[in-house]
Amino acid sequence: MEALQPGSPSAAQSVVEEELVQCYCCRLTEECTPEYIAMVKEQHQGRWICGLCAEAIKDENSRSHKALATRRR
Ligand SMILES: [Zn+2]
Repeated sequence: MEALQPGSPSAAQSVVEEELVQCYCCRLTEECTPEYIAMVKEQHQGRWICGLCAEAIKDENSRSHKALATRRR
């Protein structure tokens, strides 16, 4: 039997270069893949929003929608 030698590392690991991006809301900087950055920007009119702020925005939107729907005074 031949023992397979774990040599010759196949350098096929695709290393995605991350870019530093700054949150439009809280100025937090994060390193993300260009793909992710583009996706987030698309969702926020070309502005990059961090995860926390995105959550807050979502929350605010659903809240204001509810507020409009249930506003009976
Ligand atoms: Zn933020």
